[in-house]
Amino acid sequence: MSYDLHCHSNASDGTLSPAELVERALKRGVTHLALTDHDCVGGIDEALKAAEGRMHIIPGCEMSTTWNNRQIHVAALFINHKSQVITDFVAAQNVRRTERAIAIGEKLEKAGFKDAYARTKAQAGAGAVITRGNYARFIFSEGRAQSIDDAFNTYLKSGKRAYVSTVWISIEEATDIIHKAGGLAVLAHPRRYPLTNTKLRQLLTDFKDAGGDGLEVASCQQRPCDRQFLAQLCQKYGFLASVGSDFHNEAIRFRDLGLHLELPPEVTPVWRTEQGQRFDFT
Ligand code: AMP
Ligand code: MN
Ligand code: MN
Ligand code: MN
Repeated sequence: MSYDLHCHSNASDGTLSPAELVERALKRGVTHLALTDHDCVGGIDEALKAAEGRMHIIPGCEMSTTWNNRQIHVAALFINHKSQVITDFVAAQNVRRTERAIAIGEKLEKAGFKDAYARTKAQAGAGAVITRGNYARFIFSEGRAQSIDDAFNTYLKSGKRAYVSTVWISIEEATDIIHKAGGLAVLAHPRRYPLTNTKLRQLLTDFKDAGGDGLEVASCQQRPCDRQFLAQLCQKYGFLASVGSDFHNEAIRFRDLGLHLELPPEVTPVWRTEQGQRFDFT
């Protein structure tokens, strides 16, 4: 079995269509793939159809939340993506996302980019949710940044000229929606937030209190000591453990579907639960 429970298609800021993502995951030996596009579930039906009889698709969504004025990502896994709560969530986030994307576009226009919003939308999948990741690709393709990272550092990061802050839903609201949709709430990439260990522990305490179920313990390009540290935190706080590449495109060689996502033996994987059993090979 090879699980990868965090990746993106062109329904948000990935470059592959859901069907192309499925083919890549199959070639790489993934048996269980969760599609977790940002604040939407628009790619899941296509992924389910493409994977039918060949690989398990776990319906998911990476939810943008705000905790103490910081942007925190909560991965919803094993959800009923057609449930009313998810439909309502996607509609509400879409309003925030669209307002923000338009505001970022306006700031980029002032920096000399013509039709930034319309052209960024045109580069994404039809009806895609637009994130800063999409804008970074647009800025790079315009030759106005050396790399995607440079586009963030020059324009898109907090404090830079095209940054727009948004208040997303709270972590409590996210876990509540996820549970109502029958899923598990997992804190995505806990080591990627600019938090001290003390602040990270505060986040984990609050996430646990909010009903959070798990932590993403294994990711690609991770130092072994970080994976071990996250596994310890799972045990300490009573969280399940998840795995995810956070694959977006082929550009980063060491971030690929199913790559290097082994869990330390002491943790309980998110798939060893009632929710996970529904996607087991039996
Ligand atoms: P947003 O949710 O609109 O704020 O955009 C967040 C997305 O931007 C993330 O999911 C990543 O795909 C991407 N991202 C954020 N920071 C960076 C960075 N430094 N380099 C490359 N991509 C980034
Ligand atoms: Mn992204
Ligand atoms: Mn994320
Ligand atoms: Mn992600």
